[in-house]
Amino acid sequence: MTTANIILQVDNVDIYYGDFQAIRNVSFQVPERSIISIIGSNGAGKSTLLKAIAGLLKPYSGKIIFKGKDITGLMANKIVAEGISLVPEGRRIFPRMTVYENLIIGSYTPKARRKNKELLNKVFELFPVLKEKSQQIASNLSGGQQQMLAIGRALMSDPELIIFDEISLGLAPLIVKEIYQKISEINREGTTVVLVEQDVRRSLKASEFSYVMRGGEIVLTGKSSALEEEDVKVAYFGL
Ligand code: ATP
Repeated sequence: MTTANIILQVDNVDIYYGDFQAIRNVSFQVPERSIISIIGSNGAGKSTLLKAIAGLLKPYSGKIIFKGKDITGLMANKIVAEGISLVPEGRRIFPRMTVYENLIIGSYTPKARRKNKELLNKVFELFPVLKEKSQQIASNLSGGQQQMLAIGRALMSDPELIIFDEISLGLAPLIVKEIYQKISEINREGTTVVLVEQDVRRSLKASEFSYVMRGGEIVLTGKSSALEEEDVKVAYFGL
């Protein structure tokens, strides 16, 4: 990796909840247009790290650099405007609003709002079911469709980097497969992807580079194709 094509750089980040240190000296890099994965079990610190990148939590120390700019501690809406979008764990869609309304809410930055028709068409091309159901109330969608809606909403801010937090949770394997195919399509179109997963096999298969977390630290890193599932599991569980 040369530094020239690094889109996101996390440098020595520490995060606390009160006295409890949830993230300990975490550093990693994301090359432009790549798919990287962050793997770890419950409580490893994955969501905490993502929240710091997305501006929902402020690190105690360390730096987060996006496209060469220090974005550490910026507000979440400013970070979306810089080009980072998060698909949160549990989807967090607005259940009583229509599919269309949920999507339009995603393009709230001035840049995205100006091109929201184009963005909406792209989302509908990627997920035709959202077009079909655009006037339906979001809570009427199936779990898989709701996940597609959460991804669509994130794409409506026209991100250069999109972060997926445990998108396979609670979904049937066939749906998960379909969603992963869509992620790879999103990446082929030029968007950099950070995947956060508990599923070791799927993460290794879907990404070019992996970081394994345990107890708030990165305990193993490597090219996904070169990492053995067993070694990842040992690092993951700390056996
Ligand atoms: P999960 O898959 O369960 O989301 P995770 O890897 O994303 O796990 P985090 O949610 O980041 O893990 O949690 C990391 C650690 O921080 C855990 O020990 C958790 O109990 C703790 N933690 C998370 N949120 C808070 C909070 N708001 N206050 C205090 N401790 C927290």
